[in-house]
Amino acid sequence: MKESTAAKTFLSLPKAVGRACGLLLQSVRSGLFHPCCRVCGYDLVVPGETVLCGNCRAKIVFAVENRCRVCGKFLPEGNATCGSCRLAPPPFECHRSFAAYEGALRQVIILYKFGQVEPLKHILADLYLETVRRELPGAFDAVVPVPADLRRRRNGFQPVRVAGKVLARRLGVPFRPGLLLKRKATPPQVGLTQAQRLANLDGAFALGAGARAAGLRVLLVDDVTTTGTTVRKCAAVLKRGGARVTALTLGQTRL
Ligand SMILES: [Zn+2]
Ligand SMILES: [Zn+2]
Repeated sequence: MKESTAAKTFLSLPKAVGRACGLLLQSVRSGLFHPCCRVCGYDLVVPGETVLCGNCRAKIVFAVENRCRVCGKFLPEGNATCGSCRLAPPPFECHRSFAAYEGALRQVIILYKFGQVEPLKHILADLYLETVRRELPGAFDAVVPVPADLRRRRNGFQPVRVAGKVLARRLGVPFRPGLLLKRKATPPQVGLTQAQRLANLDGAFALGAGARAAGLRVLLVDDVTTTGTTVRKCAAVLKRGGARVTALTLGQTRL
């Protein structure tokens, strides 16, 4: 029996796709498409570079600046503790971020969070790790990510959780995302006053069902902090559960 034209087209489709893939592979091999740095657009030619070029990576450096010894806020030289921490100590023992939320660090965080460029999790885990080694000595029993607001995340990508897991593995500390849950959706904090931020997050976080935090030394991880409200709310829940909390972020807004 003779094949119909439609059947021939259908049968030849895999061949056509295969040929197109072959041509694409050839083009890549011949250098037509170089992978580019996602920040500056420069061709990635050094082995091992996958998303970010060496120049852009070199611009992301740890902030050696004077900060509040408790909350990590950037302070003028000569000040050891900020006014807020003197008035009311936060629910965490210490918070440190890698650097100010600006420049190449800010670009990379935005690319990771909103561009969902997952391979950046390794670079971000490096930054977390450097911050721990420089500023947060001591042992931890659990790495806990600040829970994402799932309704605002497309495809279920949870950037802090993903990078936090890599960090936990590198530290050799158990990763315990189930210790802390977000139990209600909240509008973004951007553009709110400090009082509104606090009210916005009232009752938003809770210990996970059946989770025991008593006696644990928790390393609480988030990506960016502005006024510190989210980290404080999460730390307060863990502290009420009996944990001692150290907070770690990548970028901190200069206030
Ligand atoms: Zn670059
Ligand atoms: Zn402070």
